[in-house]
Amino acid sequence: MGYHIYWRKYSIDTKSKFEVVKLTKLVEDTVRESGIKDGYVLVFIPHTTAAIAINEYEPRILEDYIVWIKKEFSPGGGWKHDEIDDNAHAHIASLVIGQSKMLPISGGHITRGTWQEVLLLEFDGPRRRDIFIQVHGIRQDLEKEAASSSMKSANVFSKNSRNQNPNFNSSM
Ligand code: ZN
Repeated sequence: MGYHIYWRKYSIDTKSKFEVVKLTKLVEDTVRESGIKDGYVLVFIPHTTAAIAINEYEPRILEDYIVWIKKEFSPGGGWKHDEIDDNAHAHIASLVIGQSKMLPISGGHITRGTWQEVLLLEFDGPRRRDIFIQVHGIRQDLEKEAASSSMKSANVFSKNSRNQNPNFNSSM
């Protein structure tokens, strides 16, 4: 009771072979839309040649990410899969970095550090990429409803909830 799951699917067209796209606002907007105040949000892509990461979005570090990806996963570096698809580096980078991330929600906002942004990493663009954002948790208004209905039927409040509920005295 009171536990909700809300999800949205978005599509983004990436513009180059390697790219970093900031998704933070999309995630925050979806959490706000969901009305969920406490829980977590899952950001997932149904793709094998891109990744989801959490880190800083600053022009120089964005270049560094791409330099690192090219160095670490060597595009065209003699991979077998390149014989059919020419994107083995992208599969391996996606495998290592991962295709989802989860963030905690507290008070209706995602919990994150000042420099933490939710990022889509493209390794084989330009392509259309789908992003699923699934919000899990408790909605504040429903908690209040549940609290007032249980108050009418029985005195089930602990001392804490009695003190926190402004309607308790008047409805008694
Ligand atoms: Zn492939």
